[in-house]
Amino acid sequence: MSSEEIYDLVIVGGGPGGLSAGIYAMRAALKTCLIEAGVPGGQIVNSGEVENYPGFIQETGAGLAEKFTEHARHYGLEMISRQVTAIEPGLEYHQVRLDNGEAYRTHAIILATGGSPRKMNISGEMELYGKGVSYCAVCDGFFFRNKTVVVIGGGDSAVEESLYLAKLVKQLYLVHRRDALRAGMILQQRIKSECNVEILWNSIVTRINADAQGVCSVDLKDTKTGTQRVLDTDGVFIFIGFDPNNRLVPAGTRMNANGYVVTDEKCETNIPGIYVIGDLREKYARQIVIAAADGCTAALAAAHYVEAKKAGDAVCELPPEVLQGASSIKR
Ligand code: NAP
Repeated sequence: MSSEEIYDLVIVGGGPGGLSAGIYAMRAALKTCLIEAGVPGGQIVNSGEVENYPGFIQETGAGLAEKFTEHARHYGLEMISRQVTAIEPGLEYHQVRLDNGEAYRTHAIILATGGSPRKMNISGEMELYGKGVSYCAVCDGFFFRNKTVVVIGGGDSAVEESLYLAKLVKQLYLVHRRDALRAGMILQQRIKSECNVEILWNSIVTRINADAQGVCSVDLKDTKTGTQRVLDTDGVFIFIGFDPNNRLVPAGTRMNANGYVVTDEKCETNIPGIYVIGDLREKYARQIVIAAADGCTAALAAAHYVEAKKAGDAVCELPPEVLQGASSIKR
């Protein structure tokens, strides 16, 4: 398509949400492209087993990602492998800028950029990333066969990844800052029955130490007594939640205090024709099935919006806060 033409819909991000949106958009005959800088599939590519996506009792994250991608390609979804650098809302059309200098014009945009692993911001974390510090058990667990690892966190991710690691390692210490796990009951029961897993309650890691080979220990602090001690370990896996990837969210878009975008029931932001789905959107739970459902909702809403806009029934009025953030836009 020439750069002068206008897409009906540009989807930014190729995780379960973005790919589901692509499937629905193609079936609604929208002129659509999906832009993703990395491998299609998003975060789930790094997940070991996925056991809660309906219809798949057990499937690897990568396997599920492949099926979503194949499904979207089946409907002829155009997929562009590039980094998006900016999203610029406009009156006649919105614009999506790419790192190669190109800009795509589009009536509607679905932003599905997800989130990234949250960092502890402690000494040794960044310096030892890839030298014993990891945010992905499936990617790096193999390197710790028959070794000792520390896992930090108490949510579903920390416990799920611990269950994966427990099968490989000799000893696993799950370090949690409180006296109760946040993870779901089934996961809690499973992790407590692993004989090579010890949960260190009310504990935080304050520093990651290394020798010439990489990570060798962590400094631990008891959150109740303040007592400090050193715990020997070969690796540290960090699963303490994630932060929304909101760098591309246009100025003036409504967000909550934690940086998640606030949308209405159609997943539409306060900018007409710009939708946010998946883990970037403020919501109760972050699950693959919900990201996929968001993708469906936003694509159906976008189809309706584009149709109305082309018929002259929908006017894109930019909110004042958006106009202030992008005063030069008069398309
Ligand atoms: P999460 O639910 O937010 O849990 C983060 C955990 O890390 C919490 O236990 C928290 O402690 C701890 N934590 C946060 N900051 C910390 C810090 N600075 N130092 C030490 N510990 C810290 O995040 P998540 O486990 O990544 O899950 C994210 C979302 O994805 C959740 O909605 C989850 O249900 C979902 N998820 C679902 C599945 C599944 O269903 N199969 C799998 C993975 C993720 P506190 O408990 O004290 O706050």
